[in-house]
Amino acid sequence: MKPTFQPQLVNDPFGDPALYVEFLFQKRALLFDLGDIHALSPRKLLRLTHIFVSHAHMDHFYGFDYLLRVCLGRAITLRLYGPAGFIDRVEHRLGGYTWNLVENYADELIFIVHEWEGGATMARARFRCRRTFAREDLSAVPVENRTLAAEPGLKVRAAVLDHKIPCLAFCLEETEHVNIWKNRLEELGVPTGPWLQELKRAVLAGKPDDLIITAYWRDGTIPRKRRFTLGELKRKILRIVPGLRIGYVVDCRYDPQNLRNLQAILSGVDRLYIEAPFSHEEAEMAREKYHLTAWQAGDIARRVGAKRLVPFHFSARHQQNPELLYRQAAEGFGRPLSS
Ligand SMILES: [Zn+2]
Ligand SMILES: [Zn+2]
Repeated sequence: MKPTFQPQLVNDPFGDPALYVEFLFQKRALLFDLGDIHALSPRKLLRLTHIFVSHAHMDHFYGFDYLLRVCLGRAITLRLYGPAGFIDRVEHRLGGYTWNLVENYADELIFIVHEWEGGATMARARFRCRRTFAREDLSAVPVENRTLAAEPGLKVRAAVLDHKIPCLAFCLEETEHVNIWKNRLEELGVPTGPWLQELKRAVLAGKPDDLIITAYWRDGTIPRKRRFTLGELKRKILRIVPGLRIGYVVDCRYDPQNLRNLQAILSGVDRLYIEAPFSHEEAEMAREKYHLTAWQAGDIARRVGAKRLVPFHFSARHQQNPELLYRQAAEGFGRPLSS
């Protein structure tokens, strides 16, 4: 089954990092990092609902003003997520302008900003246009199993990495697809009906196989029902296709703790976008700057079992020879970077 979302890097590998993820058949998108995003048209920016910012170094957050400029005066609520200190960063950015005439805007832009330090809750604040974007602290929300955002069909999980400051890595996970084999259902002698929705919900919620699911239908005017275990229905009539999983990893040092944190969210990921700024020969400099080399990026992708690797966020020092970084990433990965 075709995945419901389509990821695309906004810039070339030397440009600021930003990954735009568009939803098929919906005028809607997510964004990972907010560096220079001028390559995105206003039409595309207006589709954004959630933005995940790894950290507030300039190359990852500089695009906030452009986003604000495009969205101002529109009825939009944008949810932003970032690491420790992120709410302050957004507050300062919004505090850099004069807002004396926005109180009467008919359409209100609202930012709901979330800040996760890696624990069981996430701090939140709201910034509303008509209130001149003054900070309004909201109650913290729970974070279970590293999940920052979840809705039917997808979730985004995160890990805190060491980049001398906290930097978030993300994994966008599409919910698995639960398909019904119609012919097998017929063989079972049970018609389709609303009970199948209940069955799908039970699978997606990860209910145990001994859960009883009741199929009910009408035979003319006679109500009928039959009971099955969830496990039996899974075997006989369901085809469960795992959803697409996309990893996004930027600035971090190559060390065991960062690797453990990445493994917690990226195991078996379908596609991994990962920074590869430096060459293998620059490993010492990469370490001092709390960044990865291309080989290390490939090695991380191999260790987490990524199916496909997309290295990016290259240092300008390799502008003349990006092939070197691609080659070393592939060496670390242990196989070619197929497209
Ligand atoms: Zn950085
Ligand atoms: Zn960076």
